[in-house]
Amino acid sequence: MDGQRSCADDGGKRPARRAAGKGAPPDARRAESGRHAEATGPGRLYLVATPIGNLEDITFRAVRMLQEADVIAAEDTRQTRKLLNRYGIGGTLVSYHEHNKRTSGPALVNRMLAGQSVALVSDAGMPGISDPGEDLVRLAVEAGIDVVPVPGPNAALSALVASGLKAVPFLFAGFPPRGRRQLAEALKRLRELEETLVFYEAPHRLAATLAAMRDVLGNRRIAVARELTKVHEEVFRGTIDEALARLGEQPPRGEYVLVVEGRTGEGGSAGGRTGGGADDDPPDGASGPWWSALGLAEHVRHYEEKEGLTRKAAMKRAAEDRGLSRRDVYQALLAERDVADRDGASPE
Ligand code: SAM
Repeated sequence: MDGQRSCADDGGKRPARRAAGKGAPPDARRAESGRHAEATGPGRLYLVATPIGNLEDITFRAVRMLQEADVIAAEDTRQTRKLLNRYGIGGTLVSYHEHNKRTSGPALVNRMLAGQSVALVSDAGMPGISDPGEDLVRLAVEAGIDVVPVPGPNAALSALVASGLKAVPFLFAGFPPRGRRQLAEALKRLRELEETLVFYEAPHRLAATLAAMRDVLGNRRIAVARELTKVHEEVFRGTIDEALARLGEQPPRGEYVLVVEGRTGEGGSAGGRTGGGADDDPPDGASGPWWSALGLAEHVRHYEEKEGLTRKAAMKRAAEDRGLSRRDVYQALLAERDVADRDGASPE
């Protein structure tokens, strides 16, 4: 127990910092009446979920909290202003994001200690999930400030429930690491888990991440959820190979969540793996195909260097080994090279 006094079931009776006038919704008036009981305590931090695309995805309570908070701390104030305008909310906006959190965070804590209520919103969805909100919550908890979730949309859960894969248990892994090696290591740590795995990923990294998943996890079933709740919403369901092939036809655009089936059965993954099965990349000390410890680029280079094949032929051989199409290999290599360039690692 951390001694927090926040309670989730107060029926909307939390203190309102702004006058809730005649025209205010009944809940707001109730909140007003409960104000004095808590006026002496420190202000609160409200984690207010906002839409992940469709602006209608917001709760009555979230709107009320945004109306009543003394300050709205937003990751992107311009984005949040659009939302506030849509609902006719004035509100004082301050910015709180990855690049100013070291100064903005303590300033917000001081406001709350002085009795102001702060509504934290992220760019989209539930603040604190793969965004700097987590750090502000930590600061607030350390300062003894009540932290109150105001739940609502979240990309990971939306993708999970629409995936068609087992929703419980699941493991939310956030954004996978950027470096190729770190990515492979992170996936290896997840490989034995039976939980459905949920990741966020940026479009320009999608192919490399899928290729690494194919390498490390095997050809599992996957749902690739894109642009949820937006005009171009789409959930692709298939195997990782099929997802890779699709990327070849339709270059990635927009925001993505990847939902990957957990390990199933006796040492294998659901989709199996052409040319070796899901155990191709075995635990340390176990045997597996000779290329199992290699990245895709190393695998191709092996054929070029050791067998004197042309690049095209080497890619074909690596594709056959891994049960991929040549186009998948090509796309994945391009993406790996992009990632290596961006991370300053030397491309293989
Ligand atoms: N806090 C947010 C939440 O609760 O979902 C997530 C913030 S994280 C910085 C942003 C990532 O969430 C995006 O890169 C993408 O992976 C995922 N995401 C956000 N909106 C999405 C959407 N409409 N469709 C698919 N993925 C989305």
